[in-house]
Amino acid sequence: MATGSAPINRCPPGGTPVIEQLAAALGLAAIPLDPQCGETKPLAVAQIDPDRCIGCLLCIRACPVDAIAGAFKHLHVVIEDQCSGCELCIAPCPVDCIAMVTPQHRGNEWTAEDAQRSRERHRRMLQRQSTSDTSDTSEAPAPRNDLLAQAMASRRRP
Ligand code: SF4
Ligand code: SF4
Repeated sequence: MATGSAPINRCPPGGTPVIEQLAAALGLAAIPLDPQCGETKPLAVAQIDPDRCIGCLLCIRACPVDAIAGAFKHLHVVIEDQCSGCELCIAPCPVDCIAMVTPQHRGNEWTAEDAQRSRERHRRMLQRQSTSDTSDTSEAPAPRNDLLAQAMASRRRP
């Protein structure tokens, strides 16, 4: 984009606001989103079916913002307010038990604050990966363990 070799309208998640920001930054006129790149949709978050999850860790490894809590051979759960809706966890799941759903506890708009938080979480995740093994979630913060306990309890219910 900076060299003029790519247009500014190819980011469906960012939609019109990002196109306008890029246009202003590059001194260009704003143009409509290229429909061939997809459409701008309301935010959806990942949700794991607790009855089908086999605890394989593949979704945790795929998540760029560390929004999934779980341990090997144990149920995994998505932390809704940390999910960016990127969908990168869906394809690796071997039992196809992750779906994108409307958020229950937050709005369905992606804000600049959400983007900033996700950037920071991604940065911290990379930093941690460079110094330790992230597959070990035994030292997960208390809120994550609470979420896992809730999810496991819901799975035990008839
Ligand atoms: S949709 Fe993206 S951010 Fe959300 S849990 Fe899956 S990989 Fe993580
Ligand atoms: S990839 Fe699917 S089966 Fe594996 S831990 Fe994640 S949700 Fe569970």
